[in-house]
Amino acid sequence: STLCAGIDWQRGQQLREQERATFLKNNPKSCALAERAGQHLLFGVPMHWMTDWSTPFSLTVNTANGATLSDADGHRYVDFCLGDTGAMFGHSPAPVAKALAKQASEGYTSMMASEDAVIVAEELARRFELPVWQFALSASDANRFVIRWIRAATGRSKILVFNGCYHGTVDDVFVDLVDGKPKQRDSLLGQVTDLTANTVVVEFNDLVALEKALAQEDVACVLAEPVMTNIGMVLPAPGYWEAARKIIQRYGTQLVIDETHTISSGPGGYAVLNGLKPDAIVLGKPIGGGVPCAVYGFTKELAQRVEQAKRHAPPGHSGVGTTLTANMLTMAAMRANLTEVMTDAAYQKMLALAGQLAVGLRAVIADNKLPWCVTQVGARTEFQFCSQPPINGSAAELILDSELEKIVHLFLLNRGILITPFHNMMLVCPQTTEDDIAHFLNVFNQCLRLLKSA
Ligand code: PMP
Repeated sequence: STLCAGIDWQRGQQLREQERATFLKNNPKSCALAERAGQHLLFGVPMHWMTDWSTPFSLTVNTANGATLSDADGHRYVDFCLGDTGAMFGHSPAPVAKALAKQASEGYTSMMASEDAVIVAEELARRFELPVWQFALSASDANRFVIRWIRAATGRSKILVFNGCYHGTVDDVFVDLVDGKPKQRDSLLGQVTDLTANTVVVEFNDLVALEKALAQEDVACVLAEPVMTNIGMVLPAPGYWEAARKIIQRYGTQLVIDETHTISSGPGGYAVLNGLKPDAIVLGKPIGGGVPCAVYGFTKELAQRVEQAKRHAPPGHSGVGTTLTANMLTMAAMRANLTEVMTDAAYQKMLALAGQLAVGLRAVIADNKLPWCVTQVGARTEFQFCSQPPINGSAAELILDSELEKIVHLFLLNRGILITPFHNMMLVCPQTTEDDIAHFLNVFNQCLRLLKSA
């Protein structure tokens, strides 16, 4: 049998077939619903990538609460996916549920400011150390709007991103570095303009390339996750951000930090924790406790330039904002979430549990003598199919193995554990328990024992 990432592939194939059969046998109601869904939903699912989980057909969720999720056939799962960060503070946190219930009979959307917006903005300013804020309905939207504002404010057309990044469905960032040259991502559908004209892409952790790319002083902003999280995790090398920050400033480029995933680091995200001092921050997904909304914040200086750009523009559509943006319902959710859920105490719990999980994962991997590694950014932990963590997007891409991933994920799912599809990421929320982690490690160990090569 061939060896790959320390795995016996013959056993891998057997295990996959066995787990698929178990899943089919155990999920008759989900199966029947998936068949009905196939009649009237595009790809048979409400969102096309729901077909990309490890399961032979899409599992139908029934309820989700805290760290627990149940499906149509009555199975209970410990949820380490947590909606890929949307439910990072647990499903249906009680303060958010209460605020939503109150707002439910007091209006959802009016195109007017609510008092909650003031409280939310004050709290965002305190927490993220940026004074001026604005809203969107998704992190994708927030990134789109920030790019637009900064292009308008700086008069520069180009943006810079890191190879292998993901910032949502923002067309501008769907550019990869292929053989050292920018190339529009082939998977992007229906885009007819050449995105490489205004998007510069360099490898993460490469200061020389960053400086070279910014030196012409025509790049409006660098849009970056402080730790890459969407191609497996890629940590910044020690000192990388301090040096990168100086380079970015030297050429008059704005630094936009997308904290959508790295908010796992702490109550003020990675940038505050590590003193990055960005010009703008974007945060979506969990900011409203899982209710769809997002925020972005600017320094005073950048906010003034943005306001000036808008004032000097002809009247009419700005291309920023949507009708339901900053609606009353999401404001109520954000207020409750920021003031009562995303607290220092919640983070203390989450970080301690994630630490236990990371230590446990490393021990299981070492016991099974597999050449895998574990990376942790606060409440976010990931195992990767290589012995050393990758240093950039290209290296991270090389070790992705969706086939192996799916075998492990389905094995876990059949035993009551959900982890994030498309990579090997696990989140813990304040309601995750030490028993949940022990259960996870036990099942993970069983899986590795069956998979590893002799
Ligand atoms: N930024 C980052 C870093 C993300 O990982 C994602 C989604 N995975 C987004 C933005 C976009 O979030 P959404 O899909 O909620 O718009």
